[in-house]
Amino acid sequence: MKNTSHTVSQAASQTAPTHLTDASRARLARWFDANRRHLPWREHPDPWHIWLSEVILQQTRVDQGLPYFERFVTHFPTVHAMAEAHLDEVLRLWEGLGYYSRCRNLHKAARIVVSELNGVLPQTYERWLSLPGIGPYTASAISSIAFGQPHAVVDGNVIRVLTRLHAFESIVSESSSRRQINAWAQSFLDTAQPGRHNEAVMELGALVCLPRQPACEICPLQESCLAREAGTQERFPVKKTKQPVPHYDIAIGVVRDASSRIFIQQRDTDAMLGGLWEFPGGKVEEGETPAEACRREVQEETGMEVEPLTCIATIKHAYSHFRITLHAFECATVSTSDLNVSAPHAWIARESFADYAFPRANRKLLDILSEQG
Ligand code: SF4
Repeated sequence: MKNTSHTVSQAASQTAPTHLTDASRARLARWFDANRRHLPWREHPDPWHIWLSEVILQQTRVDQGLPYFERFVTHFPTVHAMAEAHLDEVLRLWEGLGYYSRCRNLHKAARIVVSELNGVLPQTYERWLSLPGIGPYTASAISSIAFGQPHAVVDGNVIRVLTRLHAFESIVSESSSRRQINAWAQSFLDTAQPGRHNEAVMELGALVCLPRQPACEICPLQESCLAREAGTQERFPVKKTKQPVPHYDIAIGVVRDASSRIFIQQRDTDAMLGGLWEFPGGKVEEGETPAEACRREVQEETGMEVEPLTCIATIKHAYSHFRITLHAFECATVSTSDLNVSAPHAWIARESFADYAFPRANRKLLDILSEQG
């Protein structure tokens, strides 16, 4: 949802008259009250829980995000608890959810709230926007749902609903389109109950106005929907043609010391997957075999000269903008005296695999190593 969130307040003045009326808002509200999913942050609304749910659920389905939400609320019942935790602990709980900068920013923002605001969560849209990792979507969602501020949310679900209601023919990623959608969202907002309204539009997109085969026959907004009238629902939102997703081969080394402990290192916190731990390795260059790349990359990153013996696993993984195939090599036992690495690093035994946060593809390899004994 992060990619499709936009600020709305400044766009409201550009709103054209709309066919959506007070009656449409009321029908949507009634539908939401009767059909909303019973989610923990809705049943016992607490601003800290709403904040956690909004960060965890960005670009994540509710069924995938729910266990993470439960885990986070249990470990960090208050913003103070998160602020006091070490980043490693927070990343470990986040592992598998992806988009790790969201986790690092959540931790950073919790510390700011505790150190600068005495642990009191801000109420206004503008103050939320000033915190790390909080964009227009999240600021609107938290300030409206937790504090009743009149800011419309615009995420992927809202875009789908609004572009269908208006049969909007422009490519939605263009900035003029975004301004138009923001303006529609803000003009449709029920300012008396902005939180409920925002949740209702998002819920409609998640449950009824689906990307394929929307359930228009049960939609509370069907009478106002231009796309339904024309039978063109699935045409919207209009998107740019997708570019092919690049693919990279990555070679990594399982390097052991004389006690059979495995070498891992921590990624720079500013990098993608920052703060997570990983095996040494990197991209297979043109003309190289994965084994050659493993030998070169391990030497470049750690100073250790290793001999890749066997390929113990080939793991495929997809990130948001590219895909990888990970070739993992068991390397001959090395002398650790050559080790020359500036990043935080460790030699870990199997019993410690769970103590560190790893990217998902590395975690799959650890599971394979654990099974091998
Ligand atoms: Fe979406 Fe159909 Fe409702 Fe239009 S009528 S908003 S296409 S579910």
